[in-house]
Amino acid sequence: MRLDVVSIFPGYLAPLDLSLIGKARRDGLLDLHVHDLRDFTTDRHRTVDDSPFGGGAGMVMKPEPWAAALDHVVQDGTTDDAPVPHLLVPGPGGVPFTQAMAHALAAEPWLAFACGRYEGLDERVYDHAAERMPLTVVSLGDYVLNGGEVAVLAMVEAVGRLLPGVVGNAESLVEESHEGGLLEYPVYTRPASWDDSGTVREVPPVLLSGDHAAIAAWRHEQRVARTAARRPDLAAASATVAGLDDLDVR
Ligand code: SAM
Repeated sequence: MRLDVVSIFPGYLAPLDLSLIGKARRDGLLDLHVHDLRDFTTDRHRTVDDSPFGGGAGMVMKPEPWAAALDHVVQDGTTDDAPVPHLLVPGPGGVPFTQAMAHALAAEPWLAFACGRYEGLDERVYDHAAERMPLTVVSLGDYVLNGGEVAVLAMVEAVGRLLPGVVGNAESLVEESHEGGLLEYPVYTRPASWDDSGTVREVPPVLLSGDHAAIAAWRHEQRVARTAARRPDLAAASATVAGLDDLDVR
C-alpha cells in the first residue's frame, strides 16, 4: 500500500519509522511518502496561512499550496492500478473513524492524508481535490486536536496493522475490541499469583484450568459484560447482556 502525507510538520510523522509500522515499511508492505506543504509555496516566507474572510479568530490554510501539493502527490504516485489516491482529510467535523473504516481502507492500494492546522483548510481545497480523487473528511473523535498529524498517526497504525504480514500472528486481530461489535476480554500473564506489596492479586482460576471450552465461555461473558459496562452503545452488547449483571467489570 502506498501512503502520502502532506503536513507543515513532516517531523511529526517520524513515529511511523518505529515498531510494527516501521518494520512494515522496511519489509516493503507500506510505501510511505511524507511531503512538506511549505515546499509548495511560492513566496519568500513560504506562507501557508492567512486571515479568514468575514473575520474571526485564527488563521486559514491557503488554497494554492494545498492544490499544488495534492496535484504533486497524484502525479508522483499514479499507476495503472491506482491512478489516484483516496484522500483522507482529518477534521473534527468529519465522519467518525472506526474499525470498519480501517478495514475498508486497508483494502485500498493508495491513501493520501492532508493534515490541516490552524482553523483548517480553505474550503475550496476540498472542491479542487474532490474533482480529482475520492475524498473523505474523517474525525478521530468528538474533540479538537491542534493538527491532523496525530489523527494520521492513529489512522495509519489502525489501517496498517490490518495489512497481511504486518502483525505476525493474524489470529490476534480476530478477537480484538471492535471486531464483531464487542470489546476484548481482560488478559493476564505470569505470575498467576502476584504479591502487589502485600495485596495478593490472582489470575481468574478458569484461565489456569486448561478447559478450553470453559475459558472461551468465560472470555465471551467478559467481552459482553465489559462492553455493556463501558460501551452500552455498541449494539452487539445490548442484545446479550441479560443475566450478566453480577460480573465484576471496571
Ligand atoms: N476549526 C476547526 C473546526 O472547528 O472544525 C478545527 C481546527 S483544528 C484546531 C486543526 C486541525 O486539527 C484540523 O484541520 C484537523 O486537521 C485536525 N483535527 C482537530 N481535531 C480533529 C479530530 N477530532 N479528528 C481529526 N482531525 C482533527
